[in-house]
Amino acid sequence: MYDPKNIFARILRGEIPCDKVYEDDFVLAFRDIAPKAPVHILVIPKGAYSDLIDFSTHASGAEIEGFFRAVSKIAAEQGIVGDGFRSIANTGDHGGQEVPHFHLHLLGGAPIGPMVS
Ligand code: 5GP
Repeated sequence: MYDPKNIFARILRGEIPCDKVYEDDFVLAFRDIAPKAPVHILVIPKGAYSDLIDFSTHASGAEIEGFFRAVSKIAAEQGIVGDGFRSIANTGDHGGQEVPHFHLHLLGGAPIGPMVS
């Protein structure tokens, strides 16, 4: 069940500010408030999806395509494509997901280190 009071839903509604780097009909992307890398962007769909599984199961084809087309644009705009970056979608309790609105972390700008530490 999607919780419309989660912090990213509030950012989408404009109730809380964010450091926006990109927006279109399908996504909003903004800087993580506690960056773990020189570039740390969160990409979120505008639709109400609680996690990766909810999004990939219930979002329309247009929403899924829009999301991933935006990811490639954002990564290019942020200058992290050439040297590479890490994308992470934490999911549920074991995945360590804190905010229950689907989001993809884009981490780059320096070597990110071991996949899991
Ligand atoms: P998760 O653990 O759910 O994958 O990641 C949630 C991320 O959201 C964390 O990296 C955290 O720093 C970030 N975050 C939490 N609250 C806010 C906020 O109010 N604004 C921004 N920009 N990022 C937030």
